[in-house]
Amino acid sequence: MTQEQDALAERKMQFLFALRSRGVTDPAVLTAMEKVDRGLFVRGLFSERAYEDTPLPIACGQTISQPSVVGLMSQALEVSPRDKVLEVGTGSGYQAAILSHLARRVYTVDRHMRLVREARVIFDSLDLVNITAFTSDGSFGLPDQAPFDRIIVTAAAEDPPGPLLGQLKVGGIMVVPVGQSDAVQSLIRVRRTESGFEYEEMRPVRFVPLVEGVAREN
Ligand code: SAH
Repeated sequence: MTQEQDALAERKMQFLFALRSRGVTDPAVLTAMEKVDRGLFVRGLFSERAYEDTPLPIACGQTISQPSVVGLMSQALEVSPRDKVLEVGTGSGYQAAILSHLARRVYTVDRHMRLVREARVIFDSLDLVNITAFTSDGSFGLPDQAPFDRIIVTAAAEDPPGPLLGQLKVGGIMVVPVGQSDAVQSLIRVRRTESGFEYEEMRPVRFVPLVEGVAREN
């Protein structure tokens, strides 16, 4: 091995170790996170910090989530290889790229056209052909593609948006951070049963807010 390969292997090992020590233990999730290089989703000044377990700024004033939170949310979603998943909040595209290794099909939407455009370029370069990215207000879901086996929201809502609950299959799972933008938010897991919805509070988290409408600079 060259020194560079050595350093890369070492960095990867530390990255996976940090994930495990923060509770990401699902082997399929860990394998997916090993495959997807977070460095590709972070630009400029912050790229050298891509392997730290920290959220980082991306374009449009948004953030790429902390890897351990991406891992814990992916794990909480209990994705199976047959699943059709909706992600609200494409951001950098990192979470969608992880999901593409776990699910059959991933739809991801963001209200910023620029983020969607940049994420698509990365998905293409990685040959992640089962991801479709759209610019839209994700609080309304994607009625044309619904219903979904799994829904993941990566921006904080005051309540789980009604249209998203409506687009979840019976037996489906949705993971969503709920709370006021600057206060403490809770990660909630919602399971749709024959008779309704079961809610489970998982852990405190901090996300950028879910904002109404498509961003105007588009
Ligand atoms: N999952 C991303 C991080 C998301 S940050 C990643 O892996 O990098 C949250 C994202 O939600 C932001 O990009 C923001 O533009 C988007 N967002 C906020 N409100 C939205 C809405 N109503 N519809 C779609 N996207 C929204």
